[in-house]
Amino acid sequence: MRLTMGGLRTRLLLSYLAVVGVGLLTLLLATLALGPTLFDRAMGHMMGGMMGGMMGGMVASVQASATQAFQTAMLQALVLSGLAAGVAAVVVSLLVSSRIVTPVQQLAGASERIAAGHYTERVPVSGSDELATLATQFNTMAEELETVERRRVALIGDVAHELRTPLATLEGYTEGLLDGVVQPTATTWAVLHDEVGRLTRLVQDLQDLSRAEAHQLPVSPSPHAPSELANAAVARLMPQFREKGIHLVVQVPPTLPPVLADPDRITQVLINVLGNALRYTPQHGTVTVTAERSDPSVSFHVADTGIGIASENLPHVFERFYRVDKARSRALGGAGIGLTIAKALVEAHGGQIWATSAGLGHGATFSFSLPLAP
Ligand code: ADP
Repeated sequence: MRLTMGGLRTRLLLSYLAVVGVGLLTLLLATLALGPTLFDRAMGHMMGGMMGGMMGGMVASVQASATQAFQTAMLQALVLSGLAAGVAAVVVSLLVSSRIVTPVQQLAGASERIAAGHYTERVPVSGSDELATLATQFNTMAEELETVERRRVALIGDVAHELRTPLATLEGYTEGLLDGVVQPTATTWAVLHDEVGRLTRLVQDLQDLSRAEAHQLPVSPSPHAPSELANAAVARLMPQFREKGIHLVVQVPPTLPPVLADPDRITQVLINVLGNALRYTPQHGTVTVTAERSDPSVSFHVADTGIGIASENLPHVFERFYRVDKARSRALGGAGIGLTIAKALVEAHGGQIWATSAGLGHGATFSFSLPLAP
């Protein structure tokens, strides 16, 4: 719907004129009601004093003519001043209304252009009144919309990119099989199976990510011992750690007070973090799981002796599709979604997740907190 600002301008003008009109009418009525009486009284005093000896009738007739003249002069003055006030009201109204109407017009125009997909639109902010506040808030909203739109476009690009790699491998192998260039050996089927597995994992991760970001991953926390949660996840990944020759140490005291956790979800968080530690730590490295009480929560830490993370990359590792080294991470099976899902799950529990690292080559520690059970 298009806003017609002529309407607002006219209404502002009419409201100014109405104020002037009511003021004038009140002034007129009050003057007409009180003026003659007050004037007569003043004249009576004056005439009585000045012409004590004159005939009473003559005094009365002079007083009546003076009253008449006074009334006419007063009416003329009121009509003229009313006209002047009207003109002044029109001028002031035009000035003031343009100061109100112009920003509103700019806001209306900008919101229309944003609705049409031009997310870079902003309105000028001047002054410090309510209209300036409105313009500032409008610009903040436009910025948010622009960020969301940029992320949406990036997400589609990232998803397409992630799908392209396994699909290209599948396409290459199936074409080779059809042409007889690639032999249908066990190794070929294993590669095809791996790529299909990668696609399946990616789709599952994407589904979890979209649910997590829409806060639709159901979380039903109940009291659980931190050691129970850590041991469950460690048990799941122990075979892979053994296979790669990495030490996995768990030092979570069973005496720690229970935390509020959905065991399935927290196992998923620990598996994502431990899976990364496994992925980014070379053979003979060590991964240590610890936990300690830090009221009003318990903090879990997964520390590894792996490749580490440079300080400029640390703040981004929880962003979706962020990978410090794209080629390396993809080769190791990572899509850059695991930590984003972990963050959403920890936050759904009312906890926080963070990462620290002494730099490249110095290992990394991923930590998260869960609230203590009441
Ligand atoms: P991915 O599936 O690629 O591992 P994540 O969201 O789990 O995606 O992690 C994002 C990025 O953070 C990884 O690509 C990697 O560069 C970095 N990262 C995560 N965990 C570690 C770790 N333990 N050591 C070094 N880098 C890590």
